[in-house]
Amino acid sequence: MKKKQIIVGNWKMNPRTLLEARKLFDSIKKETEGMKTEVVLCPPSVFIGDLALRTGGKSLLGSQNMFFEEEGAFTGEISAPMLKSLSVKHLIVGHSERRAMGETNEMISKKIQAGIKAGFTVILCIGEKERDSESAYLQKLKEQIIASLNGVSKKSLIKIIIAYEPIWAIGEKATGFVDSATLLETIIFIRKVLNDTYDQTSAHSMKVLYGGSVDEKNASDLMKEGGVAGLLIGRASVDAKKFVTIVKIAETI
Ligand code: PEP
Repeated sequence: MKKKQIIVGNWKMNPRTLLEARKLFDSIKKETEGMKTEVVLCPPSVFIGDLALRTGGKSLLGSQNMFFEEEGAFTGEISAPMLKSLSVKHLIVGHSERRAMGETNEMISKKIQAGIKAGFTVILCIGEKERDSESAYLQKLKEQIIASLNGVSKKSLIKIIIAYEPIWAIGEKATGFVDSATLLETIIFIRKVLNDTYDQTSAHSMKVLYGGSVDEKNASDLMKEGGVAGLLIGRASVDAKKFVTIVKIAETI
């Protein structure tokens, strides 16, 4: 039986205007409507309210970030009740670009707990800065998983998706991407950490995505051979044609 993949688009701080955001959103929605693949689009938060009116009731929208308090004197932040009121269903937490801006594992764990309490599906990003031949990066991944999930109960894990995003493979400065065999090894390692921290059922049932320089050329191999439940896409997600092509590939997996 074919598996339903999840394809998440992280638009980051793009596009520049609401008109462009509407155009991008509408063309992706039109082209992917009726497909079994779960498509989640995470636009900049200022555009979410407007785009929410264009979803036609589908759960397409995700947020790139959220603060852990529900309301109050937190200038510039957005809260769970705000996002919930805009039909947002998914929440990205701990993206490496936010970690680089000072987000700690402690903050990430609070955001995960707040996101779960609000009923979101939380996409937790983890990833090493570099790969070393002694495999010390695996220890870094382990630390990120354990610290980010600190305080998260076993029964909440069903609402969490892990996105493995090696920092060296992400964005304009990427020096490559993970081939599917290496990806599979890393996913097995992530599941082992989940097994040791929680139990076998949790480790088996949690979905793991891959993100980092995914495009229409490598998407098929990564999904077929990499042991992942889908992809988290940055650059290619703001190009409607590329993104839709990747979703179409996901349909065939
Ligand atoms: C990301 O930053 O989450 C990402 C996956 O970026 P890109 O696809 O552009 O490498």
